[in-house]
Amino acid sequence: MHAGCVICDEVFMPNIEVSATPCGHIFHTTCVSQWFERSATCPQCRFSGKMELLRLYFAESKNENNQVDADTLQCNLDNAQFPVSLKEKELKKLKEDVTKQKEISDKLRKEVIKLEKEHALQERQLSSMKAQLQVLSDAQQRSKDLRLERDTARAKLSSLQE
Ligand SMILES: [Zn+2]
Ligand SMILES: [Zn+2]
Repeated sequence: MHAGCVICDEVFMPNIEVSATPCGHIFHTTCVSQWFERSATCPQCRFSGKMELLRLYFAESKNENNQVDADTLQCNLDNAQFPVSLKEKELKKLKEDVTKQKEISDKLRKEVIKLEKEHALQERQLSSMKAQLQVLSDAQQRSKDLRLERDTARAKLSSLQE
């Protein structure tokens, strides 16, 4: 809960001068003094009885809970930041892994392209060899045909000579 002054709408800070009205409401001393120069009723509840301001004084607490709270907060913050830095490390490592994997995959892709080129070259060489083979086999066939023709002609010739 934050207690505050309804006149200026600000939270009461430590070491600030505050005063209470007879109706029990608390305001900044300066705020409520200025208020009563213009109005005779309580700014909060409109109480209009005899207005006598009662100056209030806060005693400073020796309780060190606030300091402990700050330490606890800092500790909690450190604890919260620890996993964050751990996650950051993990993320960095993952990014490095991804970069490494990308390098490997790039290398492999280049290798594949190189192999594909070699394969295409081999295919061309093979088809050129096949074509040469075809030419040779055609020539062989023609020479066979010619031999056959020659033999037939020879046979015809010898039959005419008889
Ligand atoms: Zn005020
Ligand atoms: Zn009041």
